[in-house]
Amino acid sequence: MINDTIAALSTAIGVGGVAVIRVSGDGAIAVAEKIFKPLGGVKVKDFEPYKMYVGEICGEGFTDFGMCVYFKAPKSFTGEDVVEFHSHGGIAITTGILSKIYSLGVRPATKGEYTKRAFLNGKMSLASCEGLIDMINSESVGEVKAGYYLYREKLTEKIKSLQSELTYALAFIDAGIDYPEEGVVEDNYDEIKKTVAKVKGEVEEIISRYRSGRAIKSGVKTALLGKPNTGKSSLLNRLLDYDKAIVSPVAGTTRDVVEGEIHIGGVRFFLSDTAGIRDSDDKIESVGVERAKKIIKGSDICVVVLDGSSDLTEEDENVLKETENENRIIVANKCDKDEGRFAADIRVSALTGEGIDELKEMLFQRAVGGKIDLGGDFLTEERHYIALKSAKETLEAAEKNFSAAALELIASDIKTAWDQLGEVSGETASESIIDEIFSKFCVGK
Ligand code: GDP
Repeated sequence: MINDTIAALSTAIGVGGVAVIRVSGDGAIAVAEKIFKPLGGVKVKDFEPYKMYVGEICGEGFTDFGMCVYFKAPKSFTGEDVVEFHSHGGIAITTGILSKIYSLGVRPATKGEYTKRAFLNGKMSLASCEGLIDMINSESVGEVKAGYYLYREKLTEKIKSLQSELTYALAFIDAGIDYPEEGVVEDNYDEIKKTVAKVKGEVEEIISRYRSGRAIKSGVKTALLGKPNTGKSSLLNRLLDYDKAIVSPVAGTTRDVVEGEIHIGGVRFFLSDTAGIRDSDDKIESVGVERAKKIIKGSDICVVVLDGSSDLTEEDENVLKETENENRIIVANKCDKDEGRFAADIRVSALTGEGIDELKEMLFQRAVGGKIDLGGDFLTEERHYIALKSAKETLEAAEKNFSAAALELIASDIKTAWDQLGEVSGETASESIIDEIFSKFCVGK
């Protein structure tokens, strides 16, 4: 029986050129000894770590030909002994090799168990694990970048430096409480206050990246709104670069919400082209109008499309009124025959493509901020946002206690803020939070 050793397919289930089966735990090498026969007379027990060996891999009732590599603890992904088998990527092959491995007393890995072991063995912070799952689940370049930032411990390092500043401030206060006659706190009072204010400011700065971080992680719901015939469908097609929406010169054709997805600067924008807002006797169109109102409320950005070649009508005014409190871009379309009769945020032509790149630039600016040049230092996780927000509030409370010079209270606030910051890296995260995070992983990671 092999003790607490796990195995799973680490590549996707299905047919492919190569599959990777990973075994982690004390029994990893014993598994390799049982199922792998290296070429050239080498013995598995003499394997040099981190070196690929070619040989036969035994499955249940068959033999495959592939490779094997040994990662020696603690220099492995999980921090334990790890052996990987690189077999051919067929369903019967991988299932057969895994059954053989399980028959040796190895247990199938649960969701995210390799990464959980890496976390528990101190190889990765919790934030880094979350970054990894984000990267794996990414559907846009922006998500990959933001995930990579977390995965590579950039946020954790930042948080840890804030925590050590708090520890420094706390040391003075604790000394002051323990030895009041020494005057440690009096001498350093301003310094302590400044440190708390500085940490709070930096926490606020990180929190401020959450809005754009959400845009990157969840995509940006973008509604194209306007009365019929202003060119919404044409604009949608222009943005999508193909003819998804129906373009028609008859007013009121776009009754339904048409959806499409574009990536601007690595961020996903979900576009919907909706009916205009006007009182209508047409039943189907009224339903569309109601839906448009709902969409306005549910959108991150409203793009109001007006016809730049004619004057504004009551219907245009309705749309403008309905969206005035929203994150809105007013587009004057048809600038190829625009007479500049009204002001707009941008003038474009869905027909010729003029101004479309600028519109994309503006959409990005509104949703993410800055030019289309994504770094990775965004705050994308709600869990981190909540922890940081609590830390900020606690530091605010500490600042209030400074005016009352209540040392014990200040110390307790700083300790609490330290713990709240520690939730990001996982130092102080509860077991249930940790379990929840790893349950979102796939098996084999
Ligand atoms: P929607 O009802 O707002 O979706 O409008 P459509 O996209 O169906 O366009 C209505 C009419 O305006 C069509 O005949 C389009 O060819 C025309 N149109 C759309 N955009 C432009 C543009 O930028 N310039 C010109 N000249 N015509 C346009």
